[in-house]
Amino acid sequence: MTTVALKDVTKVFHDGTIAVDNVNLDVNDGEFMVLLGPSGCGKSTVLRMVAGLEDPSSGAILLDGELANDLPPRDRRIAMVFQDFALYPHMTVGDNIAFPLRLSGVEPAPRGERVADVASALGIGDVLGRKPNQLSGGQRQRVAMGRAIVRRPGLFLMDEPLSNLDSGLRAELRAEISGLVRELKVSTIYVTHDQAEALTMADRVAIMRKGVLQDVGTPTQVYGRPATLYVAAFLGSPRMNLLEASVYVHLDRYVTLNLGDQALYLPWDDIRARAVAHYHGERIVVGMRAEALTPVAPDTQGDVLQGRIRYLEHHGHESLAYLDIGATAVVVDDISGAVPGQAAEPGPIKRLGNAVQRLTGRGADAGRSIP
Ligand code: ATP
Repeated sequence: MTTVALKDVTKVFHDGTIAVDNVNLDVNDGEFMVLLGPSGCGKSTVLRMVAGLEDPSSGAILLDGELANDLPPRDRRIAMVFQDFALYPHMTVGDNIAFPLRLSGVEPAPRGERVADVASALGIGDVLGRKPNQLSGGQRQRVAMGRAIVRRPGLFLMDEPLSNLDSGLRAELRAEISGLVRELKVSTIYVTHDQAEALTMADRVAIMRKGVLQDVGTPTQVYGRPATLYVAAFLGSPRMNLLEASVYVHLDRYVTLNLGDQALYLPWDDIRARAVAHYHGERIVVGMRAEALTPVAPDTQGDVLQGRIRYLEHHGHESLAYLDIGATAVVVDDISGAVPGQAAEPGPIKRLGNAVQRLTGRGADAGRSIP
């Protein structure tokens, strides 16, 4: 229904704050794009510029391929949902949802029909006669969604719409919202600082830091193959292990990664070897997710690192072992066989499995840029 393109978009506020720094981003037709990043990184400013509530300082915003920089908000076929819901307290639920239709002059009969359809899609058909203060938080948010949907916008803009709700309801509504938006096939830009929300709801995630776009991709891509060290460190819990290593390519075609006083041997037919081979002689940062590390028997050969268990952490559904490998703690999430009472004992050898997922940086200083 609507595509969005940001071309070299920058926003500098009057006080000199660079809120958005040369951002390029495309949102495809019907796509659910999540803007993710810490507080103050510029997510809301991007959203407000797309809505027409804020002018870019430079760059272009295109809606359906047309330059929209000077298009007034009311001409953009956009519906916004904010975290504070902003329902009219004196109006019933039905009137709240109908409000945008009344404004645009839709006759009462079709208006009533559209409101009933939307309310039933959202499961709030039985509370149409109530006032907002007679609703639960989740119901209020559904009404806000209903009011946004009813005009059949081309684009939804949602700014932390679930952040005022408790965690159980948030999880429930995030499935509902993404289901509903997909059913309606309306392109959506959804702002959040909650990575679980981003990774579960998005078709693609755009990660920002200090106004700069760091990475854009499907949840699997940004999680498994982060484009920058920042994204590698930011996404996922526990944090991705980032270890400095030097690369050495041997003439008889295998690669060693030297991590502190240990070395990993990667045969040439291993794609991880080829991924790092062109950094021969350099120091790089290697990213390894905890779930890619598994304990192996002490005499195992190959891509194995040895570590001493510093401490164990039990989370109910998983347990984590923090290992000292040289000077570095590595988090491993499968510690079957490890005994908490033996936390100070030498730990089992850890096989790296497919752990060397990707180079996330290069040069001796790369690791130091991680916040
Ligand atoms: P949050 O999650 O806290 O809402 P955000 O990622 O949405 O953060 P923005 O609200 O876009 O971030 O703000 C980006 C930066 O721009 C911040 O440093 C903020 O203080 C600044 N900023 C936002 N609005 C203005 C303004 N009107 N004048 C000056 N600076 C502003």
